[in-house]
Order: sequence, then structure tokens, then C-alpha cells
Amino acid sequence: MLTLAVFSLLLHFAIQASSPLDQVFHYIDEHQDDYVQRLKEWIAIQSESGNPTKREDVIRMMQVVGEMIKHLGGTVELTDVGNEEFADGKIIPLPPVVLGELGKDPNKTTVGIYGHVDVQPAKIEDGWSTDPYLLTEKDGNLYGRGSSDDKGPVLAWLHAIEAFQALNQELPVNLKFIFEGMEESGSKGLDELLKEKNETFLSNIDYIVISDSAWLSKKPALTYGTRGLCYFLVEVQCANQDLHSGLYGGTVHEAMTDLIALLDSLVNSTGYILIPGIDSDVMPLTDEERVLYEGIEFNLEAFKRTLDITELLHKTKEDVLLHRWRFPSLSIHGIEGAFSGPGAKTVIPAKVTGKFSIRLVPNMDPDKLSSQVTTYLHGVFAARGSPNRLRVALEYGSKAWVTNFTDKQYDAGRRAIRKVFGTEADLIREGGTIPVARTLQHTTQKSVMMLPIGGADDGIHSQNEKLSRNSYINGTKLLAAYIAEISQF
Ligand code: MN
Ligand code: MN
Repeated sequence: MLTLAVFSLLLHFAIQASSPLDQVFHYIDEHQDDYVQRLKEWIAIQSESGNPTKREDVIRMMQVVGEMIKHLGGTVELTDVGNEEFADGKIIPLPPVVLGELGKDPNKTTVGIYGHVDVQPAKIEDGWSTDPYLLTEKDGNLYGRGSSDDKGPVLAWLHAIEAFQALNQELPVNLKFIFEGMEESGSKGLDELLKEKNETFLSNIDYIVISDSAWLSKKPALTYGTRGLCYFLVEVQCANQDLHSGLYGGTVHEAMTDLIALLDSLVNSTGYILIPGIDSDVMPLTDEERVLYEGIEFNLEAFKRTLDITELLHKTKEDVLLHRWRFPSLSIHGIEGAFSGPGAKTVIPAKVTGKFSIRLVPNMDPDKLSSQVTTYLHGVFAARGSPNRLRVALEYGSKAWVTNFTDKQYDAGRRAIRKVFGTEADLIREGGTIPVARTLQHTTQKSVMMLPIGGADDGIHSQNEKLSRNSYINGTKLLAAYIAEISQF
């Protein structure tokens, strides 16, 4: 009969005899409540980068991150990246970017870790079930703004490092941290800083890793590409002021009628983009890629169910994912100046601005796309013979990012996932746009990998954002395992 005492003793020896990384995993399990507590402290800081009245909170958040890196024995520079100027002339300082460094052993691999600790705005009135800035645990989920995007993952990195140190295990890599506080507001100041630091701080980094995305399913994932974005404004003006449809209806070429025709000419009912030449730069799909899509875990029925949609633009899992990640898509977002309130107002708007965007894939170029779109819309407009004034403008443009997922870093990521979850990684892309991955790869010319720990249903940017306790704790183990694996390259 195995008594409890003997069992405990055996367990004790089992842990003693386990590998150094298993000891790290065990330590992480044992300290998970501390990690949740620290996340609670970070969530309480309302670091909304888009809200100028909360700028002090963002700056405090950057200081807290800096202090934690120092506590781990690293050196930190809170790098000033200048000011932010608003339309009303108000000028406030941008939060500093935390550039940290831990370890300088020339015989070790140097890994650069990117993350952000600013958040999207959140108010309980938006429809949160709990206070967004008071971390609340319910049914295994940790609810709070920034829990998944991206405070939880940033803390997971720091806790993974702390675990190695607490066990007196030498950290097998040198680390460099790039933590910003403006990611949710266009990463203002970051591009210039990265360019400026490319020959110094960034110069000896071997690999760059980012945990700021999510898995696609219940299966762990590595992300090797994101789409770019071009946002367009199409403005049509027919008169110098809004008109009464009883007095002017039937006499003028209406701006709204022109705009609807222009917007309708962009994409057909199957989602096909009608702008000529747009497909010419899209990288052809290889056989290897198609095979990759077949293996990805993605439940089409569940996807439809969550959205309450009966039919999608594409029938198969592969085609849906390809069109979400691998091909461009066009979405119409809104019309500024159009009557959109309740009731029946018989107005003819004088000036309306249609808003649409195209998600870009490799090798599409924003400038080229902008001229294709402008030429096409002016052609459609000319064919209508309208005397109104048309203006097409590219509001914002960024390229897609894709990288070689067979390089050493991805191999390390796959091994780390196998070690922690006992399963193969899904290699996925993001349909959205995360410009920093491209910026980092383009600037440093080093391998960039996204190693997400968050779940597909975390509700980032939305009400009731959460990170599950499992994702948080196993994610911390995953990042520790990645550190161990990448050190061997
Ligand atoms: Mn993020
Ligand atoms: Mn975000």
C-alpha cells in the first residue's frame, strides 16, 4: 500500500530528478497566483494610449515595466520619443519606449522581445459585465482590459525569466526588450526610434519574437504573416449646402447617388474586387502552402455559429482561411455626411464621404494600389457623366508582412509548443494588420516570429476582454520553453 507520505516523497524525488525546464514548468505552476496578482496590478493602470487624459497612466505603466526589468537584473532606458500634437493644437508627451537589456554574453544567442502595455479604451458602460480595470476571475477566465492584448503576454515573458532566476538556472540567452505604450494608437514614435537604434541597440539581436496575437483554435499556433491595410476616402460634393428634396429633388445631380454607384463598383456579391490590376501583384499560391491550409484546425461551422451566419463567401475551410489571410479583401465602412439618425429626414446631403479599405497581401504596394483605385473610380465617375466634384484619397497605407516559417526560430517555436502542449503547432497568419512585425523585420533584417498565447475568443478591443488562466500559465511555460529552445541555435 502506497501511503501518502511515501507518495509525497516519490513526487519530491520525481521533481528533483526532472529536467531543468520541467523544474521551471513546476515553478510556474506553483506561482500562478502571484502571476495573476501581478496582472491585476497592471490591469488597474488605465493605460489607454488613445485617450490624452490618461497619458500619465501610460507613462506610469512604462515606468512599472522598466522597474520590473531592473528587478530581474536588467538595464533599462526609458527612451523619449517626442510629443504628440492634436488637431486642436494641444501637445502632450508621448510615453517613453522601454528599451531593456538582460545579459551580454557574446557566446549566447540574443533574442529581442517586442510587446505593448497600452490598451484600447474601456468603460463599464460599454457593456462590460465587470469593471474593465479590476481583474476579475470567473470560470477560469481573467477578465480585464489588456489581459490578452497585451499586458498578460508581456508579463508572461517577464515571469518566465523570473522562474529561471528563482531556480538559479542560468538564463540561456541574452534578452533585449522593446516595450511600447502607443501600439493601440499607431505606434507613434516607434518607427523612427527603431531606425535610429538599428546600428546600436538592435544591432546584435539574432531573433525577434512577438506575443501579441491569438491562436486560431484550441490548437497552439505560430503566426508568420499579417495583412497590410489601405484606407480610402471617396468624397463627392454636389452643392455648397444640404438641400430640401421637395425643392431640389429632380433638379440636381445628387452626391449620394453618385457615391452609392462608386461604392457599388468596388466589389461584387461574391467578394471579388472589381478594381482592374489588383490581383497582378498577389504572390501566387504554392502547393506547399495549400497543403499547410489543409492541416490547420479551424471549425467552419463554429465560426458561422458564433456570428449567426448561415452562409459564407467561400465553402471550404481552406478557401475561407485563404481569403482571410492570403488574398486581398475590400470592406465598405461608412458614409460621412449621410443622414443616419432615426426618423425620416428629407435631406439631400451636399457632401458625402465614403470610407472603404482594402487588406493587402504580399507583394501589393500601397502607392500602386492607391493609383489603381483612383484611376478606376475616376473612370466609373466619368462614365456617369456627373458634373459633381469627386476626390479620392488614400488616408493610410501599410504593407503586408510574411516571413519564412521554415527558419530556425520557427523550428524552436514548434519544439517549444510540442514540449508544453504535446501537439504540433498550427502555422497561421493574421487577417488584420500588425505593422510592427514588418517594421522590425524590415529594419533589422532578422527573423521575426509571432508566438501567441491568447485565445481566439479573448474579445480583444471588445467588451469583457479576457485571458484564460490556462492560456496565461501555459503561455508562461511556452515562452520559457521557447527561450530554452532558441538558445540552442
Ligand atoms: Mn496588441
Ligand atoms: Mn490591440
